[in-house]
Amino acid sequence: MTRHLDGKTALVTGATRGIGLAIAKRLVEEGADVLTTGTSADGQGPAGTSYMDVDFNNVSKSFEFSQKISEMDVDILVNNAGINILSPIADIDLDDFEAVQRVNVTAPMQLCKAVIPGMKEKGWGRIVNISSIWGNISKEHRGPYSASKFAIDGLTAAISAEVAQHGILANCVSPGFIATDLTVKNLGEQGMVEMAAQVPARRLGQPEEIAEFVCWLGGPKNTYISGQNICIDGGFTRV
Ligand code: NAD
Repeated sequence: MTRHLDGKTALVTGATRGIGLAIAKRLVEEGADVLTTGTSADGQGPAGTSYMDVDFNNVSKSFEFSQKISEMDVDILVNNAGINILSPIADIDLDDFEAVQRVNVTAPMQLCKAVIPGMKEKGWGRIVNISSIWGNISKEHRGPYSASKFAIDGLTAAISAEVAQHGILANCVSPGFIATDLTVKNLGEQGMVEMAAQVPARRLGQPEEIAEFVCWLGGPKNTYISGQNICIDGGFTRV
């Protein structure tokens, strides 16, 4: 039986847990050869993937990694790795602010830059950058994170404008409240219950619900969607 991503090579950053893990798993199920990343040398992605460690907050390591990726013939790039440091603007530490931009914007940009020449040569490629509802709307203490997630949306729109003519479609996917470690850390158990009550769907999303759509958007079934930022948030940003 042929699967819709047979013969494609995908890179999913930050695939040791949460949303990235679910995306990498789904891509493997659809037949892709999947490269994954995490921060720890002894970490791992889901079964059937090839794991590499890299810290996107380390500028030189991040650059070295993007050089390595430029030689790997990636067809589908999913920039998923991300961090969130909550702080009121009045108290923001510059290093923390810049760390969020390095991991959430600079590293994804470098990886786009690394894979685009190979995609152009083949006349086919898909880029999915994981943004957030906080890259569409914002709230208090989200300054560093919203700055990075609005930025990745703008970057993706520009990339789409430059490369869609070469068969490369680039989009953002913006998850809402998804039940992952990051969400538990940011909201706490009680906060998660309260948050669910504010979502029109009255529940948090599951990583698999993001993975399903990313897998479709990042594959050949997506033939004409480019430059978009699609929220998967149970309706949260529309009320
Ligand atoms: P998570 O914290 O569970 O996992 C993050 C992944 O990124 C891990 O694999 C980790 O190894 C990697 N990572 C973290 N810091 C890194 C660094 N310095 N260098 C390289 N890799 C690093 O996160 P998650 O909740 O699965 O979120 C994944 C993506 O989805 C992020 O971009 C996040 O901003 C976005 N997002 C998540 C939610 C949510 O509710 N969980 C909502 C909106 C957007």
